[in-house]
Amino acid sequence: MLYDVIIAGAGPVGLLLACELRLADCSVLVLERAEDPYSPLKELPFGMRGITVPTAETFYRRGLLDDIAGGTTHLAVGEDGAPRRRAGHFAGIEFEDSNIETSRWQYRLPSPADTNMAAEMKQIEAVLTDRARSLGAEIRRGHGVDDFGQTENGVTVRIGAESVRGRWLVGCDGGRSTVRKQGGFDFAGSEPLFTGYMAEVEIADPEAIRQERTITSTGFYLQPDPGMIAMLEFDGGAAHRTAPLTLEHIQEVLRRVSQTDVTLTALRLATTWTDRAQQATTYRDGRVLLAGDAAHIHSPLGAQGLNAGLGDAMNLGWKLAATIRGEAPEGLLDTYQDERHPVGAQVLEWSRAQTAIMLPAPQSLAMGSIISDLIGTPSGATYFAERMWNAALRYDLGGAHPLIGRSVPDFELLDGTRVAELLRDGQGLLLDFDGELAQAGALWRDLKYVPGDVRERLGLAAVLVRPDGVVAWACDERPDPAELTRAAFRWFTSAAQVPAM
Ligand SMILES: Cc1cc2nc3c(=O)[nH]c(=O)nc-3n(C[C@H](O)[C@H](O)[C@H](O)COP(=O)(O)OP(=O)(O)OC[C@H]3O[C@@H](n4cnc5c(N)ncnc54)[C@H](O)[C@@H]3O)c2cc1C
Repeated sequence: MLYDVIIAGAGPVGLLLACELRLADCSVLVLERAEDPYSPLKELPFGMRGITVPTAETFYRRGLLDDIAGGTTHLAVGEDGAPRRRAGHFAGIEFEDSNIETSRWQYRLPSPADTNMAAEMKQIEAVLTDRARSLGAEIRRGHGVDDFGQTENGVTVRIGAESVRGRWLVGCDGGRSTVRKQGGFDFAGSEPLFTGYMAEVEIADPEAIRQERTITSTGFYLQPDPGMIAMLEFDGGAAHRTAPLTLEHIQEVLRRVSQTDVTLTALRLATTWTDRAQQATTYRDGRVLLAGDAAHIHSPLGAQGLNAGLGDAMNLGWKLAATIRGEAPEGLLDTYQDERHPVGAQVLEWSRAQTAIMLPAPQSLAMGSIISDLIGTPSGATYFAERMWNAALRYDLGGAHPLIGRSVPDFELLDGTRVAELLRDGQGLLLDFDGELAQAGALWRDLKYVPGDVRERLGLAAVLVRPDGVVAWACDERPDPAELTRAAFRWFTSAAQVPAM
């Protein structure tokens, strides 16, 4: 069988991409090296993942938000149900919810996805696996991609002695991606300065290890919950995946970093990471594409990697599907790199900036104290929330209207239907609040024409929304059908398929 798309990796990014491609009716094979999806590192507390606004919106718009985040903490509410105080942190320097001026984010309406959240990796993967399978994606576990070759017309992927054929291959196979390496993609960036640790341990003298983040001359440590240790040692990343994660090693590092004689009596689970920050210089080579950690790696500081990867999948899915169906406007697939590469680069910068502030040097401490002052102001907290939650993400799509390139507000139609519900099947939308664009709206087969007023217009008259929820065109009054037609041609279909107006 010739698959439209072969995806390497059934992590969250590969699974979401499979769902998006199946929504558009492409045949999809997902190859996953691991036999068993289970890992204790995907369960709480190790498997806790911060979810930014665009990711929450993605899940909401595909009807998955309750299943994914419903069982875990909605970070807007504290454990006692009272509004939370801490909204996030930059290099461990916290900012508060009450300082964030969300009114600055002009085009947002209240929705279940309007803040950052947390979810469990195991749950994210389970929900996406179920959905991918129920939409008809084939997922083969215990089948790792070993190598591949491509021609002008397709790819041949080797799994051990077996081969499978597809029209496209997408590497969603994580930070050590085989697809990226075998494909010869350039992976450029900075080398690590530290090894980070998370460990669940038993401590003979727990009072020796402070609960709050404590900076020392070689790194920092904290004990957020009894027996949970998070620490970071500036060792140039030397211990990551080289030193065996034994009780002795963790104790040695903890003693060095905390400058105490703490004694550990048992090690239950531990993991390490570094701040290596690298990004593929191109996300596409012919019929091979990269997404998620395969395309960009960095430290988990700031909770961005999964979010960046899911953003890649949401952006790529509909564009690749339109290309496969032969309906894509010229250059549509190239906009995947144009839009997502800068987002990946920003995430790497965010991670590097945090490392710079955490270095055990007087200069870094001084910079940290300035950041601490700034983050305590409304403007500072709003800036950090905006960057960390990605709440004001805007692609540079050209066009004069300030909403173009941003996430569509969750408008509510007068019958109570929300825009997120209209986006559930992955089709683009033409929202026409005054019902003046019926003729243009009828022309594009894959565009849902939605005439009628909404409860809060935010000053708008009409909005053209891509399948990924990004606004392609908007106007405040008296829509110009010619302008709309140009935007629709750019994003929705090749000119040949639309009769002349
Ligand atoms: C401690 C820690 C905390 C984190 N916290 C956050 C957070 O709060 N928020 C956030 O956004 N991100 C966070 N991250 C990052 C996040 O987990 C990753 O960015 C995310 O898992 C990337 O998803 P992915 O699907 O691209 O890759 P992965 O999750 O790595 O999945 C890749 C899949 O590909 C499979 N595979 C590998 N090689 C092959 C092959 N050759 N063929 C077939 N399959 C293959 C693997 O088995 C795996 O299932 C954290 C990471 C760590 C380590």
